[in-house]
Amino acid sequence: MQRLIVASANKGKLREIKELLSDKYDIISMSDAGINVDIDETGSTFEENALIKAKAVYELCGCPVISDDSGLMVYALNGEPGVYSARYAGEEHDDEKNNLKLLKNLSDTADRRAKFVSVVAFYDGKREVTAEGTVEGEILREKHGYNGFGYDPLFYSFELKKSFGEASAEEKNTVSHRARALKNLTEKL
Ligand code: IMP
Repeated sequence: MQRLIVASANKGKLREIKELLSDKYDIISMSDAGINVDIDETGSTFEENALIKAKAVYELCGCPVISDDSGLMVYALNGEPGVYSARYAGEEHDDEKNNLKLLKNLSDTADRRAKFVSVVAFYDGKREVTAEGTVEGEILREKHGYNGFGYDPLFYSFELKKSFGEASAEEKNTVSHRARALKNLTEKL
């Protein structure tokens, strides 16, 4: 099985990537590979940031890497928080503060449609491959469920007819932006 290092310290993402790829690849976290690095996401698109992360970790391990750059795009907020999803609440951000800021910014908004976007990148020093996945839904007025991470309790999936916070890991993986991006990536590899 080919070994892939995941260029992410986000435990939620890492868990999902393991669930989605472990049948085809030997998925190793950065910490298991002894890599501890904070990568500046200086790109303005998900694709740029996914490649920045994959290449930065490749420079440290010299082995095949995959990364995910993802976020929530709310139509009524012109695509915000987008690439800033992880740091939406500013300096002291965490999932709770990000969710509260989103609810506040949408408090007077009837159109609550949104999508999650994931761009995943593979880099092994020779080949760089990227792929995208999306999932459509809307932002609830309060949190529903405790599963997942990030904005999951506020994201109602049109396909699952429940929030990602209420969905099991298996259910989320049938429709998620990340699952779709990884499927597209593995087809390209
Ligand atoms: P990144 O590390 O810059 O890619 O940050 C992605 C951020 O987008 C996460 O910290 C979450 O806030 C949000 N996000 C991305 N994917 C998901 C998901 O599957 N569920 C909930 N939030 C997500």
